[in-house]
Amino acid sequence: MAEPGAPAVKPVPSHLTDRFTRLRESFKQKYGTDPEFFARAPGRVNLIGEHIDYCGYAVLPMAIEQDIVIAAATTDDQKLTLANVDPSFSDFTSTVDGFTIDKSQPRWFHYFLCGFKGVVEHCKIDKPSGLNVLLEGTVPKSSGLSSSSALVCCSGMTTARANNCSLSKKELAEVCTWCERYIGTEGGGMDQSISFLAEAGTAKLIEFNPLKATDVSLPDGVVFVISNSCVEANKAAFAHYNVRVVECRLAAQLIAKSKGLDWRKLRKLGDLQSALGVSLEEMGVIVDQLLHKDPYSREEVCKELGVTSEELQDTSLSQNTKDLTTFQLHDRAAHVYSEADRVFKFKAVCDEKPADALVQLGQLMNASHASCRDLYNCSCAELDQLTQLCIDAGALGSRLTGAGFGGCAVSLVPAAKLQDFLKAVQSGFYDNSPTRSTRVAESLFATQPGDGATFFTL
Ligand code: ADP
Ligand code: MG
Repeated sequence: MAEPGAPAVKPVPSHLTDRFTRLRESFKQKYGTDPEFFARAPGRVNLIGEHIDYCGYAVLPMAIEQDIVIAAATTDDQKLTLANVDPSFSDFTSTVDGFTIDKSQPRWFHYFLCGFKGVVEHCKIDKPSGLNVLLEGTVPKSSGLSSSSALVCCSGMTTARANNCSLSKKELAEVCTWCERYIGTEGGGMDQSISFLAEAGTAKLIEFNPLKATDVSLPDGVVFVISNSCVEANKAAFAHYNVRVVECRLAAQLIAKSKGLDWRKLRKLGDLQSALGVSLEEMGVIVDQLLHKDPYSREEVCKELGVTSEELQDTSLSQNTKDLTTFQLHDRAAHVYSEADRVFKFKAVCDEKPADALVQLGQLMNASHASCRDLYNCSCAELDQLTQLCIDAGALGSRLTGAGFGGCAVSLVPAAKLQDFLKAVQSGFYDNSPTRSTRVAESLFATQPGDGATFFTL
């Protein structure tokens, strides 16, 4: 495939004309001018490969139809004005260089500012143009479908275009990966990469270092269905996500130390595997040999690494994990190596299409969920109930998708059974709950691999 260039500029497709016309009218009402351009970045559903991108391993997502759209116009007053169509998100104004991104209290506009700051720094823009922005999002928030990264990506491409910086989709994906960390979450890059590199009709294997996206053609006769547990999990407001990142880092460092490697330089379980030059299966054996299943105390970790508690902050911890006192290492590493293996197996089944391909894919998804639940502890009661219900309703496989702790499940469903499946999940999970029953339409839906980020003209 040809090296993907900058995000395309396309006319608004006819089924979206009403939405973009409304957005243009709202923009005009607010700012008194037409927007100069529209940017759109999609959310995603990860089919398999959870919590392993930040360990350096490949993942297998596809873009969804739900997205973040920004209508924007440049201004010459060096002012940023950020507004949201949803009235529960209040306006933000600042000069282009006069804001701070508050990690302790993440607000919606901080995600925009991450993308803005990232592109300004990456492109070394001396005097960034002022911007009037009106944003509209349809990705369910804090639900594992990557609303946060869709927002950061949409902001990044908006900022690049407003300042006449031509960045390729890969470059944008990489900039938006590191700049989302300004909000505090130490993400791995899956969400931003698929938002930019997705193509309609195909899922993608996303590999890192170097970033690469390879088409994965899904078997015929099945659909992927998303179902939201309706438990919100805000990844920047709580430390759970970063705790997992740090536990993986410490697992890699402890094993590296006992294998005589330069452990201070080693920060990813994937890099540890490369340094040792062994298979994923063998990594599983090494984890069992060198790490104990009980949690490690901070003292024990420090003793193993030969550092003081303060030094550990520099070598391994992050802002919102610097005071942690216990770490679960064995189970986190065991999850990562087995999940990385499941991604390659999933891809191989999609490529080779054996007679029992659908059964195999379903089993891999179920094994992924069990590992997230039992080893990574990133599921929750509602997601466990929902995935079981999906299996009972006819899914071949069902698993939490995204970081977990709440949010959505994704299920592999035979196309012929889709309507019965949707009916059964609706009555089993949504109809009997007053809070969920009003949200069925946006919470339970079949999805197709959607297109990546683009600019639109109206
Ligand atoms: P996700 O799994 O959806 O990425 P995160 O917890 O990482 O969840 O990010 C969710 C946050 O992203 C929200 O709390 C909000 O600040 C921001 N966000 C997402 N979508 C929108 C939107 N449409 N408008 C404003 N902010 C949004
Ligand atoms: Mg997110």
